[in-house]
Amino acid sequence: MGTAIACQSSASLQGNQDTALRFLAIEDDEGDFRLLARLLRTIYGQGVRIQWADCAQAASTLLCTKQFDLVFVDENLGAVSGIQCVQTVREAAGSSIEGCAFILVTGRDCGDVDVAATHAGFCDYLLKSELAPGQLERAVRYALETQRRKQEILDQKRALDAALCKAQENEQRFRRLAQLDPLTGIANRSLFMERLASGFAAAKARGQGFAVAALDLDRFKNVNDTLGHQVGDELLKAVAHRLTDAIRGYDTAARLGGDEFALILPSRPGSSLNAVQVGERIADRLSASYEIMGHEVTSAASVGIAIMDDTVCDGEALLARADMALYHAKRSPSRSFYIFDAALDEEVRESQSMEQALIRSIDRGELYPVFQPKVHAGTGDITGLEVLARWEHPDLGDVPPDIFIPLAEKCGRILPLSAMIFSQACATAACLRDHGFGIIPVAFNLSRNQLLQGNLLGLTEELLARHGLSPEFLEYEITETIMPRDLDLFASEATRLRDMGVTLTLDDFGTGLGSLENLRRLPISKLKIDRRFVLNMIDHRLDHAIVTATISMARSIGLTIIAEGVETEEHHRTVFELGCDEIQGFYISRPLRGSALRPWLTDNFADGATH
Ligand code: C2E
Ligand code: CA
Ligand code: CA
Repeated sequence: MGTAIACQSSASLQGNQDTALRFLAIEDDEGDFRLLARLLRTIYGQGVRIQWADCAQAASTLLCTKQFDLVFVDENLGAVSGIQCVQTVREAAGSSIEGCAFILVTGRDCGDVDVAATHAGFCDYLLKSELAPGQLERAVRYALETQRRKQEILDQKRALDAALCKAQENEQRFRRLAQLDPLTGIANRSLFMERLASGFAAAKARGQGFAVAALDLDRFKNVNDTLGHQVGDELLKAVAHRLTDAIRGYDTAARLGGDEFALILPSRPGSSLNAVQVGERIADRLSASYEIMGHEVTSAASVGIAIMDDTVCDGEALLARADMALYHAKRSPSRSFYIFDAALDEEVRESQSMEQALIRSIDRGELYPVFQPKVHAGTGDITGLEVLARWEHPDLGDVPPDIFIPLAEKCGRILPLSAMIFSQACATAACLRDHGFGIIPVAFNLSRNQLLQGNLLGLTEELLARHGLSPEFLEYEITETIMPRDLDLFASEATRLRDMGVTLTLDDFGTGLGSLENLRRLPISKLKIDRRFVLNMIDHRLDHAIVTATISMARSIGLTIIAEGVETEEHHRTVFELGCDEIQGFYISRPLRGSALRPWLTDNFADGATH
């Protein structure tokens, strides 16, 4: 058992205790310790504090519990060397002796001691035989200075390490933030694509299941338009929240942009993904109504799911399949989710190839107009021609406009298509006039993009001027299914068109949402009852009653009423009795090519010119 003796003068217990140097001597020879202590007092006065440990263990105890400025260590402590003793003590005391300087005191003058001492972290070494006040004072000063410098460097290194660590943390934080969608806080597209690529590769390598879901809110734009962007934003947040709630911990939910969301759904080892269940669950959860800023918002969601198989090469290809499935789900009125299958692939490929063929045909000017006559319901006089676009697909033959018009809108070609049809139709109207048929107005169907392009007035003036026609030759049919907000944007241009003398007709009346409302928004002078109504009126009394009331209302505000889809004599009689001014339909004529118009007009109106 070693001894640790406090060798302190009474002076050091009073007064300048705090500033006095604190020494420890690890020395197994009491005589050597006393000699050292005496010398230190000679140098630093009686106030100096010196403690003694006569073995490694006692030294360890003292160093772990007290603070020292400098430790003298005897090179030979009997069982252990002074260097070993300091190593052991360092291990036990750790950072608490970091600031402490060590001097090795040795009895032998041997060349390798100084090197060994430096390696072991000693600041200096002293020969016992040469101990004298001057030399000791220099050694202490030197050791303390060396230690102070070491400590300074150590502190700087620590500060640097801490700064580096902080910078790394910040960078990680920034990287994380850069990968999150700022609105909803879930993964953004960049993080999603990263996880998609790595998740796909990992699942493939391990032979595990992997699926991707693409989601979209069905009427998000509508919510944004009618309730404002703040409600739209809150809805997106709520959707992100429900999505995170609906998935498992190892799935990823991401917002890819706008109202587009996506999920990564890896299978755990030994379990397989029930895609039907997942699709159903997610579509159901998202479709339940939301309470947002005092509004009850309903926004059904569509989900498309693609499951990894041998035919898909990477994550992006899988996502493209999920998108196709989503596209399909959105088009299907009865299903809110769809799981990708090969037949779907074929269908999408077909629609893509149809799109390409349409673009080629538009660029080559291969589409053409046909004309369907409209006549006065009572007198049978010609009142106008509705212009309908036609397209013959090189392989498929005639494709209905209900298919190719939306396709042209989707691929951004509706404006050149319409320009081509309008121009040909105006040329036909001018030709009829020149052949003595007078003013037979041509009625064009306006697509949403044409309403919103903002320069319809300019284009109309240009068109009429080019063909030498006055505005009475022109009628625009605006379908009632166009959103009210779009109609608002069009309202001022519509008024200028009307003032110019162009007739505006509300088409497909009865199929849209706010039928009566639309009448108030636009300077409409004609109303066209949709063909489905004309058909239903005969057999359904309710439809009959609705149309009757609508017609009497329309008449009371001075609108002209035309019924389309008049296929039989009975249809004609019914709509005429209800008060329709004009009729159009197969009963009068099917749509005719431009070249067939003159013969038809001549046959039906023997005197040639009409009104
Ligand atoms: P719409 O404006 O309602 O056009 C009337 C549709 O009814 C035409 O179909 C016409 O052929 C059809 N139809 C006429 N009489 C009868 C009838 O007695 N019975 C039946 N069952 N149908 C009749 P089409 O030509 O297939 O056009 C369909 C739709 O495509 C049009 O509906 C119109 O919305 C759109 N469309 C056609 N051409 C153009 C165009 O150049 N531009 C734009 N934006 N849309 C067009
Ligand atoms: Ca029409
Ligand atoms: Ca119609």
